[in-house]
Amino acid sequence: MRLHEYQAKQVFADAGIPTPEGRVAGTPEEAREIAEEIGGEVAVKAQVHVGGRGKAGGIKLASTPDEAYTVADEILGMEIKGKLTEEVLVEEAVDIDDELYVGVTLDRGEGEAVAMVSSRGGVNIEEVAEEYPEAIAKEHVDPAYDLLGYQNRRVVYGAGVDREVARDVSGVLDTLYTLWSGSDADDAEINPLVVTGDGDVVAADAVFNIDDSALYRQPELAEMEEEAFDDPFEAKASDKGFDYVRLSGDVGIIGNGAGLVMTTLDLVDHYGGSPANFLDIGGGAKADRVRDALSLVFEDDNVEAVVFNIFGGITRCDEVAEGINEALEEFDELPKPLVVRLTGTNEEEGRKLLTSKVEVEQSLEGAVQRTVELAGGDS
Ligand code: GDP
Ligand code: MN
Repeated sequence: MRLHEYQAKQVFADAGIPTPEGRVAGTPEEAREIAEEIGGEVAVKAQVHVGGRGKAGGIKLASTPDEAYTVADEILGMEIKGKLTEEVLVEEAVDIDDELYVGVTLDRGEGEAVAMVSSRGGVNIEEVAEEYPEAIAKEHVDPAYDLLGYQNRRVVYGAGVDREVARDVSGVLDTLYTLWSGSDADDAEINPLVVTGDGDVVAADAVFNIDDSALYRQPELAEMEEEAFDDPFEAKASDKGFDYVRLSGDVGIIGNGAGLVMTTLDLVDHYGGSPANFLDIGGGAKADRVRDALSLVFEDDNVEAVVFNIFGGITRCDEVAEGINEALEEFDELPKPLVVRLTGTNEEEGRKLLTSKVEVEQSLEGAVQRTVELAGGDS
């Protein structure tokens, strides 16, 4: 689960990290009210899960409440890298003297956290890593010892952070690490951590991603889940317990098992199509789950045709076929063409049961090629 900036800032602020005062707004009127409360210059920031919002026009400064209204009106409804902006964070503008990067992330290869600091904050950290690798200092953290004092100082000084703010930056890094390890997080990042004209440090941006599999033991964070999504389809899918990612193409893809769905995605691409989503209904999928999955994908206006790829193991093909039939009962005519590939346990029975509303293909290649064709080929 990826929290919105305003949610991550709330968590960071509660833990003692300095953040600008601010609140989230869904309308220009609300943005004006918040700006009035704060007084003085405010930053109005699109709450969408994409990097580089600033460059894309999703962050604007406003010096009066009326101006906050105007820029909020511009940013709300704006599409940034394919994501619709439905909310803006209105917060006290920060007086930027310098921008640092502070982050804790998981090194999956090493199975350990990495604490990182860079004196080149405010820009994409991956680009910094490529162009100026020496500007990023890193320390791996042994989970048995947590982030030790000397390691913390080593990254802060190693990154060339000014002595005057080094102690404050160390404090922020310590808190960030504690939050990371205590919240089952994947990433906790502040970019930029701003050094103000007065020499204070303030988190001007915040990223906090939590491992979905651990949400059951993070009840306070799990409560933020509903608002954390910025795609209604992803919210609905999570509610149904599906593994779902919305993509930008027009070929809907459903399958049972992550590997099978990935393979289908690759094949759609191979045959010149463009995937609209990744949807794994999981193993042992019963009729009602099949129905929910189909409804979800049919509802997506981007989808032109759907391929349903089932490998029957524990999931019996006849059961899946019943699910598909049941899901399609409500339609006299299918909203979008559906190509089904059923193979494995009880495949014969399954194929015989299937309603004539769907096209059945024996091979995966055949099913994908046919679906791409139905979607109108290259999109
Ligand atoms: P991102 O581009 O999506 O990562 O959004 P950030 O929140 O990191 O903001 C990008 C850049 O906008 C920052 O590095 C700052 O230079 C600038 N910015 C953001 N908030 C403020 C603010 O309150 N005041 C000023 N002057 N600049 C800001
Ligand atoms: Mn940022």
